[in-house]
Amino acid sequence: MIGVYPGSFDPLTLGHYDIVERANKIFAELYVVIMHNNEKNTFFSIDERVDMARNSLKDFKKVKVESYSGLMVDYFKLKQADYIVRGLRAVSDFEYELQMALMNRSLDCSVETLFLMTSQKFIFLSSSTVKDIAGYRGDVSKFVSPYVLEKITEKIDKLGK
Ligand code: ADP
Repeated sequence: MIGVYPGSFDPLTLGHYDIVERANKIFAELYVVIMHNNEKNTFFSIDERVDMARNSLKDFKKVKVESYSGLMVDYFKLKQADYIVRGLRAVSDFEYELQMALMNRSLDCSVETLFLMTSQKFIFLSSSTVKDIAGYRGDVSKFVSPYVLEKITEKIDKLGK
């Protein structure tokens, strides 16, 4: 089976990593796809996000990291995927995720979304929290890979924060 795990990954956190680790056990091939979304003002560029995800996930031999600007359902068809993978944390994720899953299915009825629950320790972890804490020079080493930590620190230094 082929899975695609889409998201902003701005940046990839250990919560995302946890979902990849779970999905890696299910799929023969897994594409982590960094979506280019014009609506979202991201902290890292698409190339930076791809680089951080590739580096953090390099030990997963079946996992490929790509970027895509377009509709998720088109990417899904392009890869002849079986499932879209999404992570669920608290109940608060549910409404948005349900809306996306049903919207994707209404665009193409062959699209199924598979939800995987995060580990309890990552339940309150999001890319935004990591950026907020790092912006105030707080310690985020428990939440991201060493490579992402290095890149966040570099970026914040460059911005002179
Ligand atoms: P998007 O902008 O598409 O929501 P994100 O990068 O924020 O992109 O998230 C991608 C997916 O990963 C979403 O399904 C989100 O719920 C999930 N996710 C984010 N953080 C975590 C976490 N800590 N644990 C599990 N899943 C997570």
